[in-house]
Amino acid sequence: MQCPACQNTMKKVTVAGIDVDVCHGGCGGLWFDQFEFKKFDEPHEEAGTELLEVPVDPAIVVDHENKRACPNCDGFIMMRNTYSVKREVEIDTCAGCAGVFLDAGELNIIRGQYESEDARKAAAVAVFEEVLEPELELRKGQTQGAVEQSRRFANMVKFVCPSYYIPNKQKWGAF
Ligand SMILES: [Zn+2]
Ligand SMILES: [Zn+2]
Repeated sequence: MQCPACQNTMKKVTVAGIDVDVCHGGCGGLWFDQFEFKKFDEPHEEAGTELLEVPVDPAIVVDHENKRACPNCDGFIMMRNTYSVKREVEIDTCAGCAGVFLDAGELNIIRGQYESEDARKAAAVAVFEEVLEPELELRKGQTQGAVEQSRRFANMVKFVCPSYYIPNKQKWGAF
């Protein structure tokens, strides 16, 4: 598989029984199939040096502005979603295969955010219910920007808390 960020050939490693493609000696990015990424996003889950300390080529400069093509699907451009309501990290996700690409160091940041899946969800739900829903309701239909913002939140919750997302049942998820 070719790295979607730097086109280096990725190396397949197996961690905790899961195959992960690693941009070893390239930009240090990581590719996870489907939702397998969820098995590594909390600090109690084993990730090992293969995923947390990937050797990189310092000469490679990655453009974080460009959208990237999915390395697994033909013709799919990945979406960029905030991961967790702390919004420190943006991950690339593919709507075609549900694969996830992380830039170097992002997994380390994500693992430092929450102790458990429950804590991650609780934080997300609190923000959506208390802050975003009333705000979006107020701004609904007013500007294209508000619509675009709700769409981004819907995409985020769909990914971060799939069990909490019910299509067309929430104001911010009605797309
Ligand atoms: Zn790379
Ligand atoms: Zn894909």
